[in-house]
Amino acid sequence: MRSAIVDGTELRLPLKKEAPGFRLYAVPLAELQDMFLGEMSALVDSYLSEGFRVSRLALGFPGPVKDGYVYGAPTLWGKMSVPYPLLSGLRVRLGKKGVTELLVANDVTAAGRSYVTEENRNFCIITVSSGIGNKIFLNGRVLEGDLTIGGEIGHWYCGYAYSEFVCDCGGRGHLGAVSSGRGVERLAERMKPDWAEISAVASLTHVTTSDIVQGLNRGDVFAHKTLNASVAPLASAINLINLATGVDNFIVVGGFALGCGEAYADALRRSMEGLQFSGHFTERSGGIRITLGNDNDFQALEGLGKMMEEDIAACAAADP
Ligand SMILES: [Zn+2]
Repeated sequence: MRSAIVDGTELRLPLKKEAPGFRLYAVPLAELQDMFLGEMSALVDSYLSEGFRVSRLALGFPGPVKDGYVYGAPTLWGKMSVPYPLLSGLRVRLGKKGVTELLVANDVTAAGRSYVTEENRNFCIITVSSGIGNKIFLNGRVLEGDLTIGGEIGHWYCGYAYSEFVCDCGGRGHLGAVSSGRGVERLAERMKPDWAEISAVASLTHVTTSDIVQGLNRGDVFAHKTLNASVAPLASAINLINLATGVDNFIVVGGFALGCGEAYADALRRSMEGLQFSGHFTERSGGIRITLGNDNDFQALEGLGKMMEEDIAACAAADP
């Protein structure tokens, strides 16, 4: 969980702490949700005690969010069967602390919003950390359906070859279970018997993402092979998104991808080679662009700040 006071383009008093998720606390879902509200309340208290007045709060949440309801939070809350009214819960807890304006958005939408500029209005942001998420921006606005929210390529079935990989959602063979940080660890376990003799990483009892990152930096062949295997299904997903939407600019963020750095973008670009369709003449050559986003833990907060400003401007325009 990261927070800060957004003051224009400046982030003041940035804080970072572990979110109260199901991996940390073995308690019923309702209790986890209540703990989350409690954490928000404690955060506001900590800013109030520093002398800030907190009247507006924008929250980026790791799951699909629509009209203030959360429709899933696999990495934080595990399985959910009914939508959770997060916005109204926050309103009850925080209203008495002086927070009168609240905005709840998906965290990847918030991160993506921070990349929207006059020149950069059509792109797809993909986050590769413990899971995988995405958002498509067209004409500067995030693409969402009426009933489904979008951004769930992490739950795309990427093939029988990965059916033993169980996703956080309970499904099997999902992209988020293969190409994520957790997925790379699973792939390493599967592949290491063939490489143990020539790779220091492959001879470890349990290979973690940080072993892979260190291995990449040292030029460990097994670390590179594992990374290549993990990005292949993601390259296939990017290929389909490009063909379906025409979006050709892909920004990759998230702890695992940014931890690997340019090695990650290179592996993904190489995996894209041979997949790209060249049947159309376009003025801009070069095909699909894959770039790493900023390695800034607080990037989504900048996007949330922009979203809050737009919200206030839209309300002012509607009610002069
Ligand atoms: Zn899934």
